[in-house]
Amino acid sequence: MLNLVLFGPPGAGKGTQSQNLIEKYGLIHLSTGDLLRGEISNGTALGLEAKKLMDEGILVPDAVVIGMISNKLDANKDAKGFIFDGFPRTVAQAAALDNLLTSKNQQISGMIALEVNDDELLKRLLLRGKDSGRPDDANPEVISKRIKEYNDKTAPVAEFYKKQDKFNSINGIGTVDEIFTAICAIVDAY
Ligand code: ADP
Repeated sequence: MLNLVLFGPPGAGKGTQSQNLIEKYGLIHLSTGDLLRGEISNGTALGLEAKKLMDEGILVPDAVVIGMISNKLDANKDAKGFIFDGFPRTVAQAAALDNLLTSKNQQISGMIALEVNDDELLKRLLLRGKDSGRPDDANPEVISKRIKEYNDKTAPVAEFYKKQDKFNSINGIGTVDEIFTAICAIVDAY
């Protein structure tokens, strides 16, 4: 299996590049943000709880997202591999993902980190908020909170994969095609 972690701050382009990757490599896309928004639109108890946090730009509890990912891994036993998008977002999530995959005799092949500076992220997210309908993209304060959560809790996840020699960094500024070409060069090496 080819299991990739697509990593980067909110607005780095993980969702866009995930779509390109699933088409080219036939992988299953697992976005915890999309899964959580699915729970919200289905009006589940989990969705209601998550919505409060997401609307404030705060991470939802580790156990919630780890449970969702575990279910999806079980539901896709025959997959060629997975793209993890927006997960793991804490070191505890990264450790839990390793355990889940190990229990299935699988592992993460590599992490690809999209690097984009904070000014560019704010610009992109406000632009996306104009037509995405996502409440967390509409408000500059919520965006700043998400970037702060990323710097405090998520950035250390890069170290986790560096220690395993699985970390790859890519410049996330450029055209979608340029960035995809750079990502593919890394994926093909796996
Ligand atoms: P973005 O990367 O643009 O912020 P996402 O769709 O990945 O968007 O996430 C939206 C929100 O969902 C986050 O701000 C957070 O509240 C919640 N969320 C998504 N994934 C996770 C996760 N792995 N752990 C905790 N919270 C998460």
